[in-house]
Amino acid sequence: MENKFPGKDISQEDIKTKFPLAAKKTKNHFSKVKVNGTIFGDKLIPIMAGPNMVENEKMIIKTAIAVKKSGAQFLRGGAFKPLSFPYRGKKYTETREQGIKWLAKAKKETGIGIVTEVMEEKYIDLIAEVADIIQIGSRNMQNYPFLTMVAKIGKPILLKRHYGASLRDWLGAAEYILYEGNKKLILCERGMSVPHTHRETSRFLLDLQVIPAAKEVTHLPIISDPSHATFWRPWVSPMTTASIGAGADGIMLEVHPDPKNAAVDPLQPISFKEFSKLMNVSRKVASAIGRKIL
Ligand code: PEP
Ligand code: MN
Repeated sequence: MENKFPGKDISQEDIKTKFPLAAKKTKNHFSKVKVNGTIFGDKLIPIMAGPNMVENEKMIIKTAIAVKKSGAQFLRGGAFKPLSFPYRGKKYTETREQGIKWLAKAKKETGIGIVTEVMEEKYIDLIAEVADIIQIGSRNMQNYPFLTMVAKIGKPILLKRHYGASLRDWLGAAEYILYEGNKKLILCERGMSVPHTHRETSRFLLDLQVIPAAKEVTHLPIISDPSHATFWRPWVSPMTTASIGAGADGIMLEVHPDPKNAAVDPLQPISFKEFSKLMNVSRKVASAIGRKIL
């Protein structure tokens, strides 16, 4: 069978029967997803920035103000978190409903858009009230009944790629959302788990080439999250500019007022100052390839 796509495992048959809604209809078919007046999949590369976890009211408002000032359109932050282990400490604990209220306050005070994760059915409505974009995390990418439930709300969705999923698996998950009639879908590459990343130097490997690969097959906008992928502050900046160069339609970054003391994953967030500097460099890279960062 003819296979024009270098995704290798993706056949013409898949395009026709497995994910016809996620697949491009023509070579230049690219969807634009508009959220609060910001368009994903256009010349502008929207930026989402904020802490891993919404730790308290003060830090989230402070962060919202800082990232907005540097040009971010969206504040990211988890209140309901897929923490890898069940143990909690005084600081290392989800802020849940309280965290959602703090995100609402940050939104009200700054006007910034909100991206936050949902993990359980019973919190979908609560989160949908505050979130402009509902995040489905890496770990839930293949929770198909959950994808269907979240899609039915009709809000924009950010679908993170599972760190072990092929592009074919990922587009299959995307199809579940599109199948419910929800077209406001954005994909997010956040790093793959491959054997050589299981060393002390890194945790995941940013799959930069999935960006052009996805663009050959799907019309959906695709953004990059270099923070989760690198898990290492000094690599966030080079992998951000590399993502822009690779054609990312948006960037998600972990930014924290006191990175070393972040409650979750303190090795990956960058400071307000580093973020502002990275935005300046990113603007130049975006402009060199005919795109734009505010
Ligand atoms: C996050 O964005 O905070 C997160 C947990 O991401 P991922 O699902 O990619 O691990
Ligand atoms: Mn995280």
